[in-house]
Amino acid sequence: MASSPTGCTAGLGVLGLLVGSFLNVVIHRLPRMLEQDWQRDCADSAGLAPPPPAAPFNLLVPRSRCPHCHQPIAAWDNLPVLSWLLLAGRCRHCRASISVRYPLIELAAAALGGVAAWHFGPSPHALLGAGFSWALLALAAIDLDTLYLPDDLTLPLLWAGLAANLGGYFVGLPHAVVGAMAGYLSLWVVYWAFRLATGKEGMGHGDFKLLAALGAWLGWQALPTIILSAALVGAVVGLTLIALRRHRRDQPLPFGPFLAAAGWISLIWGAPLRQLLAP
Ligand SMILES: [Zn+2]
Repeated sequence: MASSPTGCTAGLGVLGLLVGSFLNVVIHRLPRMLEQDWQRDCADSAGLAPPPPAAPFNLLVPRSRCPHCHQPIAAWDNLPVLSWLLLAGRCRHCRASISVRYPLIELAAAALGGVAAWHFGPSPHALLGAGFSWALLALAAIDLDTLYLPDDLTLPLLWAGLAANLGGYFVGLPHAVVGAMAGYLSLWVVYWAFRLATGKEGMGHGDFKLLAALGAWLGWQALPTIILSAALVGAVVGLTLIALRRHRRDQPLPFGPFLAAAGWISLIWGAPLRQLLAP
């Protein structure tokens, strides 16, 4: 079944639902885990007593709980999308509402896996493309929540891109290596130009690393389209939000989701897009 395009699409779609469920945990917990690490490091470098040891908190422990009544969520209430629908978006115990974001992330992960499978057909490319897409989804959501793109995700994504292209799966290795370097440097230059001109920080270092990862996966040839479209869409969305008074002018807008979306579009439609922009 996995060798037919439809079977492969369905398979990666279902896998995407399960991965999406795990991504919800990563999106929610990774920033808090990093915060705990920083607090320990800060206390350590300031020569202070470390914060009292807290209960273990990582991607596996503790089990998922309702944030309101703290009851553990049973496995059958934790099925991707289905449980949320059956429980009408409420906790079984206290009836507090559960954010619609959880099933949306699961559906998005299923759609990304399905599209990668449909586009690449039954092949290692489909699996690699789906993994790339899922990592981008997690990064975009974490950046939206916290204005931060963790090294724990951007750097492995970069190495994974170089490793995939060691086998030439998406572009040749030289293009991937130059892509990683050019991706980092191009935003680094923009950052310093903006900072010297205005005295403000226009973006975070995580954005450089994310673009380096996109360059490692897609090659340097993809970078101009990614940067231009992310900046353009980012500016339009930012100005629209300010005009609708949903966003303050002095509040930073995360750039990662736009980079991630542009990178994903480039994975699927990169070649026709580049022909359109530079025939
Ligand atoms: Zn509850």
